[in-house]
Amino acid sequence: MSQTKSQAEILKEALFNKRKNGRLVATDETLALSDSYCEGYKAFLDNAKTEREAVKAAVALAEAKGFVPFEIGKSYKTGDKVYVNNRGKTVAFAVIGKEPVEKGVNITAAHIDSPRLDLKPNPLYEEIELALFKTHYYGGIKKYQWTAIPLALHGVFALKDGTVKEVCIGEADDEPKFVINDLLPHLASEQNKRTLNEGIKGEELNVLIGSHPFRDDKGSELVKLNVLKLFNEKYGITESDFLSAELELVPAFKACDIGIDRSMIGAYGQDDRVCAYPALTAILEVDAPEKTALAILADKEEIGSAGNTGLESDFLRYVIGDLAKMQGGDATVALRNSKCLSADVNAGTDPTFQDVMERRNASFLNYGVVVTKYTGARGKSGTSDASAEYVASVRAMLDNAGIIWQTGELGKVDIGGGGTVAMYIANMGVDVVDLGVPVLSMHAPFETTSKLDVYMCYRAMYEFMK
Ligand code: MN
Ligand code: MN
Repeated sequence: MSQTKSQAEILKEALFNKRKNGRLVATDETLALSDSYCEGYKAFLDNAKTEREAVKAAVALAEAKGFVPFEIGKSYKTGDKVYVNNRGKTVAFAVIGKEPVEKGVNITAAHIDSPRLDLKPNPLYEEIELALFKTHYYGGIKKYQWTAIPLALHGVFALKDGTVKEVCIGEADDEPKFVINDLLPHLASEQNKRTLNEGIKGEELNVLIGSHPFRDDKGSELVKLNVLKLFNEKYGITESDFLSAELELVPAFKACDIGIDRSMIGAYGQDDRVCAYPALTAILEVDAPEKTALAILADKEEIGSAGNTGLESDFLRYVIGDLAKMQGGDATVALRNSKCLSADVNAGTDPTFQDVMERRNASFLNYGVVVTKYTGARGKSGTSDASAEYVASVRAMLDNAGIIWQTGELGKVDIGGGGTVAMYIANMGVDVVDLGVPVLSMHAPFETTSKLDVYMCYRAMYEFMK
């Protein structure tokens, strides 16, 4: 016996926009594919905790798939795979399309820098026979979250003779880690009166790095001396070499599954590797697309995309210009005809903090990749509000490919805000909309995402560039 639907039910089905949990919609095969895809993602997360490491890991994966450094003056044909490495911190990968570059490039843009603690230029000091590093935080963090967790030191010393020494301490299980200590609760009555924002202050983010003194009866600062001696033995550096270093403290823990059902991933730096890895792995699979495909993994998004490795720079403009000129085309025309998915995360709705979200326009874990028409703050300040026409074309692409997706605003009106690289790409005359993965605990040392959403992000990136 079949139940007959009422007129209202039939009309509702035809007219209402229904949102559904992707895990109820996806096939078993899709869920299995998303699980296996995320194994590669977790390995990438552990291997690429800084922008420099992400560029290196991405280039290695790309070279294995036939990508070669782009050379100005050389001509490339359909299907050729090239990359441009900008100072080891930003990298653009391109696959030459069948149509001329001037007809437009399909761009995916993600960022590979994440909030962290940078060492100050003169970081090393000793207090009460303990050696510490002074730090300056990078990006928007809740400072109290960075205490009492194991930290690893990544980065480089650039020496006066031009050599660059790479540093990575604290990632292997048997390597030492570092830590920022917090006050014990027993003595925290004064600290507890501070606002959460000031619970740990910027100048209290001091990293413990040693306690063993150089064994000599004479002299002071013997713990600092011993630390420098160890750095000198390992990297050949002296204290003044910290002046030309980029050393970053990041959480030492590894990416892992979250939940007894293993449906989620917990890791540091998912904003925005959770979109960078999909953009990268998607372009690695692109062969002879209609339009030239380009995936750019950028630095400095977390501090406003400024600087010559950020997307506010002319780097992307020049890369597309060089590709167009290689065919005798015009750079500006190419940009004007280009389209972009700005691949960045959105705030997933947290069951404990639902107050900051407006439910009808919030994104949820497992509801697929999020299309964010605009970010910004207050009256849409500081954003690129994508055109209805462009959003329509992206909707059509996602639906036609059977990709599970949702829309999301970044929280309630006037409760806060944020931005992405979309507005800088829009400045070049490119059509752009944000598309990415919802994240819980964004910018925390350990962020949470859903495996299905990550996989849907990859599928969207591929569909856009293929
Ligand atoms: Mn981001
Ligand atoms: Mn961010």
